[in-house]
Amino acid sequence: MKGDKQLMDWAFTLGTVRGIKIKIHLTFLLVILWAAYNWGVTLRRGSSGALFGIALIAVLFLCVVLHELAHSFVAMFYGVQVREIELSPIGGMAKMDALPARPYQEFVMALAGPLVNLVIAVPLGWVVLLMVKGGFIKSMGHLVYLMSKPSWQGFILNLFASNILLALFNLIPAFPMDGGRMLRSTLAWAIGQRQATRWAVRVGQGLSSLMAVAGLLSGNLMLVLIGILVSVGAHQEGRFTDLQAVLGEMQVGQALITPCPILSSDDTLQVVMERALHGHAAPFAVGEEDRLVGWLTQVDIRSALATYGPDARVGDIMQKDFLSLPPTDTLVHARQVMATSGLRALPVTAEGQLIGIVTAQHIQEIYTLLAAQEQRQQN
Ligand SMILES: [Zn+2]
Repeated sequence: MKGDKQLMDWAFTLGTVRGIKIKIHLTFLLVILWAAYNWGVTLRRGSSGALFGIALIAVLFLCVVLHELAHSFVAMFYGVQVREIELSPIGGMAKMDALPARPYQEFVMALAGPLVNLVIAVPLGWVVLLMVKGGFIKSMGHLVYLMSKPSWQGFILNLFASNILLALFNLIPAFPMDGGRMLRSTLAWAIGQRQATRWAVRVGQGLSSLMAVAGLLSGNLMLVLIGILVSVGAHQEGRFTDLQAVLGEMQVGQALITPCPILSSDDTLQVVMERALHGHAAPFAVGEEDRLVGWLTQVDIRSALATYGPDARVGDIMQKDFLSLPPTDTLVHARQVMATSGLRALPVTAEGQLIGIVTAQHIQEIYTLLAAQEQRQQN
């Protein structure tokens, strides 16, 4: 079952650094193909050009991992758990369960990433400077030619330019870029977290609209795509901060859904189907003598039915390694964990015993009610 789930994630794990999984999204292969095609065919450098492109992307990929690890290590230093780093064609993302508690901590965390790219760029820039001084680079046109040529000089020039671009691009003051976080944490110091986020979201959406329009006018589809992604990121960040402001320190234990339908490991999928027909919605908890031993989601049930049929045992298809939360966790943290893990519901346990479940839908309902109440108080 685990294999099925990972296949659906479209990402595979390359390794683990200090407990953080480094995952790479399958679409990243497109970037490698693009690099091989660009240097091999478009720039007419043949197979050595293709290899050059692949090597360059591999090293750049490493630079992005180091950038994300820098964010992650600072976050961990401030007590935030980092689950994984995922790399996709549009860059890397460190998935965290929460934000550092204080604005300056968020600022340091955000700055650490671009700083890594600048640090990498310094020795490379020094070599580039030597090339200019030594007369190796004669003009701007010659520079462009050198960058297209599979050679160690071309490699250094490309790597230098990419790291500078990575740093500058991430410093754009728009969510979800690092610059957006730096802007928010700086504003938060003066006007508080919630207002600061509102302003940072506005700036982010303004900038992303400009990017998209500039992209449309110049026919640069990549810029349009980035504009849309930045806009979505800004919107999500705004929503999450609202959630945090309205729900405050409310705990998971105050929003438990009970009783949770419990299955036994020996039940068959036929039993699960009958329960579902009688109105019990997935997910199901699987218990053995008062202890929670497994978790069965809608997706698990669907794929097991398709693969093994109704006679499959629950114990064979359930997730044995699943996330669970203590009742003392905050609802905001629960929602964040669901967002980063892609799950809609989580079991809540105390000393290994299931005491209920918490769902994204229920948290949303609580938020809507409290927000309405808050609005009335403000009017
Ligand atoms: Zn970053």
